[in-house]
Amino acid sequence: MIMTLQGTSIIGAARGKGTEALGKSHNPATNEYLEPEYIAATHEELEHAVSLADSAFKEYRHCSGAKKAELLRAIASNIEAIVEDLVARMPLETGLPEMRVRGEAGRTCGQLRMFANLVEEGSWVDARIDRAQPERQPLPKVDTRSMLRALGPVAVFAASNFPLAFSTAGGDTASALAAGCPVIVKAHSSHSGTAELVGLAIQKAVADCGLPEGVFSLVYGGGRSIGQSLVKHPAIKAVGFTGSYGGGRALMDLAAARPEPIPVYAEMSAINPVVILPGAAKERGAQIAQGLHGSMTLGVGQFCTNPGLIFVHEDYAEVIAKETASLVAESASSAMLNSGICDAYCSGLEALEKHDAVTQLGKASAGEGSNQAVPALFQTDIQTFTSSEELTNEVFGPASIIVTYQSEEDLLGAFATMEGQLTATVHGTEEELAEQVALTRLMEDRAGRLVFNGFPTGVEVCASMVHGGPFPSTSDGRSTSVGTMAIYRFTRAVCWQDCPQSLLPAELQDGNPLGIQRSEV
Ligand code: NAP
Repeated sequence: MIMTLQGTSIIGAARGKGTEALGKSHNPATNEYLEPEYIAATHEELEHAVSLADSAFKEYRHCSGAKKAELLRAIASNIEAIVEDLVARMPLETGLPEMRVRGEAGRTCGQLRMFANLVEEGSWVDARIDRAQPERQPLPKVDTRSMLRALGPVAVFAASNFPLAFSTAGGDTASALAAGCPVIVKAHSSHSGTAELVGLAIQKAVADCGLPEGVFSLVYGGGRSIGQSLVKHPAIKAVGFTGSYGGGRALMDLAAARPEPIPVYAEMSAINPVVILPGAAKERGAQIAQGLHGSMTLGVGQFCTNPGLIFVHEDYAEVIAKETASLVAESASSAMLNSGICDAYCSGLEALEKHDAVTQLGKASAGEGSNQAVPALFQTDIQTFTSSEELTNEVFGPASIIVTYQSEEDLLGAFATMEGQLTATVHGTEEELAEQVALTRLMEDRAGRLVFNGFPTGVEVCASMVHGGPFPSTSDGRSTSVGTMAIYRFTRAVCWQDCPQSLLPAELQDGNPLGIQRSEV
């Protein structure tokens, strides 16, 4: 480890002192504790962080796209400069392998640079110009011009399952900073050291770019008190969250009960159904089984897009069931991110094992080490599935259930009862897919991303990506937390009516000085 960790919050350009010890980070694979002791931010420190963010917003919101791009690129470069520190620390805190650290660091920096390019180019603000028509009858038309503006300071709750790409400098932080919003991150206790390393990289970038220190803070806190105070603070204008349904719902309720309610963009639970149509099962059952196994065990199954339910016609289920079960049985067990997540996974498995109408098709052997997740595959029929609400609960980890169906009508009926999902996947031959209008419409109704002849894990970071979905997969099905559209969560539209040119933002001025794409009438 090259950098020394202090274990305290980052409050603008300074470090917090705190008083309450949160404990040391824990190695889930060995049960060892890692230095240093982490200390929660005090409520005074939180207040200071928010007040710095509030005053930074006055300047940062008006920064040019080029300036915000400079910051986002500086953060990416600073993270690249500490990759070896991350490689030394993150696997110890999370049980994730070195390759994942390097891969996720690359994705995180790629995301930051994607937003840098977006704001530097500038057209994302959706500038619209309706020029005045003084001669219009019976009434003259006024000049109206609108564009998106930054919302205000944003609270980001780091995710346990993506210590880099959905945490301190992850998609929520990158999109909020790109929009022009200062960010206060509530660190996840599962990877406190990783959060500190990345937090320092952001703090340095803010200083190097000559921006107000309040553009970024990182607070530690346990027992929910710091996180809840952050969401309730009047200066906070939006929340980004990835985690459990319970946590996301609690923050939604808290935000809605504020004197000034604010939006919470929470990504919560999903079981990501996969449908395998008969032709595909017949034609390439073994190949699909391999893909399914890879997708359900990737990252120890700790992905929000993990395929939890696999619908297959009962006459064609044998190959898929047998092949997937045998791959699952041969899989290695691995340490989960933390003991809480492992306990929840074990209870989920136990409930499935005890279910009278659910059969266990295959289960791996438990390996050495603590907090091991043992991959498992189950099977049931569609009648059991539709009459057992508990089978629609997310089992966060490497477990999936094959649900056999007898008729397309049953399949569509079961699909129609499902709650909102991040993804819905279908495998079929070309001829089969061409006939699946009803299923495709149901998938569209239920999920944010529709996958054809593929697997739901592996979320591409790009302009057209939607990593969101109807409630309860997310709190607001109109949004995405991955891809450039994520920026819109932290904006609001403002319209200028008959505004003098000198007072208009450059994006809306005559002559289009920034050369952005605009809609003009
Ligand atoms: P979590 O328990 O929801 O916690 C996430 C963050 O939210 C933590 O910082 C936590 O603070 C905070 N938080 C939770 N409830 C809160 C409340 N009522 N008030 C204020 N803050 C609150 O999520 P997790 O620790 O990442 O994992 C727990 C379970 O969530 C997993 O077993 C899994 O089932 C699910 N999960 C799902 C996904 C997904 O993408 N679908 C991703 C990750 C986890 P503290 O540190 O103070 O507790």
